[in-house]
Amino acid sequence: MEDRILGLHHITAIAGDARRNHQFYTDTMGLRLVKKTVNFDDPETYHFYYGNEAGSPGTILTFFPWAHVRPGSIGPGMATAIGYSVPAGSLDFWQRRFEEKKVATGPRAELFGETYLPFRDPDGLHIHFVEPKTADNRTPWSTKGVGKDEATRGFHSITLTLKDIKPTAEILTEVFEYKLLSQDGNHYRFITDAIDNSAIVDLFEAPGMPPGLNAGGTNHHVAFRVKNEEVLMKFRQKVAARGLQITPKIDRNYFFSLYFREPGGVLFEIATDNPGFAIDENANELGTNLKLPAQYESMRTEIEKVLPTLG
Ligand code: ZN
Repeated sequence: MEDRILGLHHITAIAGDARRNHQFYTDTMGLRLVKKTVNFDDPETYHFYYGNEAGSPGTILTFFPWAHVRPGSIGPGMATAIGYSVPAGSLDFWQRRFEEKKVATGPRAELFGETYLPFRDPDGLHIHFVEPKTADNRTPWSTKGVGKDEATRGFHSITLTLKDIKPTAEILTEVFEYKLLSQDGNHYRFITDAIDNSAIVDLFEAPGMPPGLNAGGTNHHVAFRVKNEEVLMKFRQKVAARGLQITPKIDRNYFFSLYFREPGGVLFEIATDNPGFAIDENANELGTNLKLPAQYESMRTEIEKVLPTLG
């Protein structure tokens, strides 16, 4: 299993107002802010990482909040819905909580025999809370408002919307070793047996869907997980061997990454487990300090002045 893709590592999306984003994910959804840093290419913008207590791969949703971003919309060639797994029977709790907090939810629905509650974050990002068929035993982060019997366990799945699923399915099966599990209408579920959770990619074929806009409230990229840099570089060769452009290895401080655009149009990343979020903060303080990469440390005072204060 060591040299395989181990499901999802993280998902990165675009948000508007930083405070509103922070409030929604830490309070309403009850996630832990596991890292508060800046966009390495634009240090006057935050980069937030939300996850479980340890910030485990497969639980991490990250945002670049840009105050004046224009609202985006979903379309083919994009990751269009994030699935979080929640405990069996917890959807009533979540429905009540979202009503209290004025979060619009869609009607509960079923896909591949699993019930889910669809809703959107304050920027319009599509999220599904799914009660998975098989229990998810990952340890959650709990808060005053969201106890361990309701808290999300981490990612259940990511949905990619595509004009034609075939080229993307080939990358998933031939390079990432996923298998087609089943089909439900125009939805095709792919899964890897290399890991128990965060193991699902759903492909939704929508040939007539108009193009979307990758801006506020949409996903920017989907990162798949590997154990270490050695495995990362093996996958670099496999992707390059298919004639796809792929970046060199990039140091993201908390993991090492490669990026490539899969043939269906979605930006994929492959990211390592090492070194992890505890590299520059104690596990019990994750997310409490503004962490800057070495190249911006000398600008800390100026950076802190322009970043919005969080509640
Ligand atoms: Zn990423």
